[in-house]
Amino acid sequence: RIAYVNGAYVATRDAVVSIEDRGYQFADGVYEVCEVFRGALIDEDRHLARLARSLAELRIAEPVSAVALKIISREVLHKNKILNGYVYIQVTRGVAPRDHVFPPASVRPSLIVTARSVDPRKGDAAAQKGVAVATTPDLRWKRVDIKSIALLPNVLARQTAKETGAYEAWLIDAEGMVSEGAASNAWIINQSGTIITRQVDHSILRGITRTTLIDIISAHGLRLEERKFSLEEALGAREAFITGATTLVMPVVAIDGHTIGEGAPGPMALKLRSIFHDEAARST
Ligand code: PLP
Repeated sequence: RIAYVNGAYVATRDAVVSIEDRGYQFADGVYEVCEVFRGALIDEDRHLARLARSLAELRIAEPVSAVALKIISREVLHKNKILNGYVYIQVTRGVAPRDHVFPPASVRPSLIVTARSVDPRKGDAAAQKGVAVATTPDLRWKRVDIKSIALLPNVLARQTAKETGAYEAWLIDAEGMVSEGAASNAWIINQSGTIITRQVDHSILRGITRTTLIDIISAHGLRLEERKFSLEEALGAREAFITGATTLVMPVVAIDGHTIGEGAPGPMALKLRSIFHDEAARST
């Protein structure tokens, strides 16, 4: 496998960064994961715009232009012969002797780009069965709208979920409301058919899949409410699902062992998944 590291394409086993990289020492960096479908980068411009925003929020300079990043991503995909999977982009504040305050402006940010191949049939098979989620308290900081590489609470939440046999963790805030998944946005459809997902503010990541799905929901004239919902409301929902670049629209059939709807993927979630797929295929 080949990775891009600060200007060079190198074999992944030889790809290294300094022990003084601020990503390694402080998790002082941001990242993006962009889905690759039939060789095309899905919603690439939105991912690059979010990356630019995350960098600006943390006052990290852009390592290369968006155009250069597009070329690098394509080169990494090409060198790894990847048609379906995802591209991972990570930018950190660069390499400097350990000190909490920012290094001088002469220190350039570090950029790495890698890619992974994923068999799209795997996700489809999971979607046909639906997945289980387990809830856990949302222990994250108050700016999770920034796609920071500091993911320890997400790692612990996912691990706990996995240990209970669940596919994803739903993070519950101090008021008992569902924030989002550990690596996805959370959605429910209530008994009157309204699609509900938490509004975007500093308490969730503005998922690109979420944004694109909202476009689809509006284009199809479906009812959407962007607001907080409680775990209790989710347990009484007709359907539930999650969205993310690597999962797309994934039906949820159980929360903490409670069956959602009929205990099978909901018709609306499956329909949204299929429309999302068709739109992605059209853009290839
Ligand atoms: N929320 C969190 C915490 C995430 O880590 C992710 C993606 O990894 C998402 C939501 C979904 O975002 P996107 O649709 O851009 O992949």
